[in-house]
Amino acid sequence: MLATGDLDTDVADARAKAEEGFAAMKIKVGGKPVADDIARTQAIGEALAGAVQLSADANQGWKRDDAITYARGASAALDFLEQPVMGRDVEGMAMVAGEAACALAADEGLHSFEDVRRHHAMGAAKGGSVKMIKLGGVTRAFQATELFAELGMNVNLAGKTAETSVSSAAVVHLASAAPVLAWGVSPTTPYLAVDIARNPITVREGHVEAPTGAGLGVEVDEDALARYARPS
Ligand SMILES: [Mg+2]
Repeated sequence: MLATGDLDTDVADARAKAEEGFAAMKIKVGGKPVADDIARTQAIGEALAGAVQLSADANQGWKRDDAITYARGASAALDFLEQPVMGRDVEGMAMVAGEAACALAADEGLHSFEDVRRHHAMGAAKGGSVKMIKLGGVTRAFQATELFAELGMNVNLAGKTAETSVSSAAVVHLASAAPVLAWGVSPTTPYLAVDIARNPITVREGHVEAPTGAGLGVEVDEDALARYARPS
């Protein structure tokens, strides 16, 4: 995630992470004036020069007008633009898609298989972000990736913000099994200050491996768990 909102800092982060081996980056947009987001996106795009898959995620941050302004000004620098308008505004997504030089991805607009089909049918997205928390667990999230594949749509597999290695392990196993994953996987464990696993899910040189042990393959550190437990 390139998410400081500051052009120089985000460009420096992008260069450093590309050097480290990261293959995909997502710019967080929608929290600043749209002209600033356009300038920041273009600068990051120029710094990476196509070496890394680049997306931008507005988390529903714009009204249709601003989303279209951003799409016209910055989408040529992107591989995909995620959820520029409200999740329920599927028609607005289709309008932005018509103005964008890159594919559109849905995230907050996807809570069911029907939502996936609706975005596809309306030309509102060419893919989307699949999360267990939205679809209802591991099995349904996996079935959603099968539906995306059937419809010829791309998948970005993401965790909830700041998950422990227990749920991040599930995300990584899902990523290993998903029939499509062109838009990458984003485990959020690396953003935690502390974890509760003896063998935490770690991202090295921009890549992550699924643990091979039984079950999720994560060994829970019971002492750490007790340390952070809330008294009942
Ligand atoms: Mg998102």
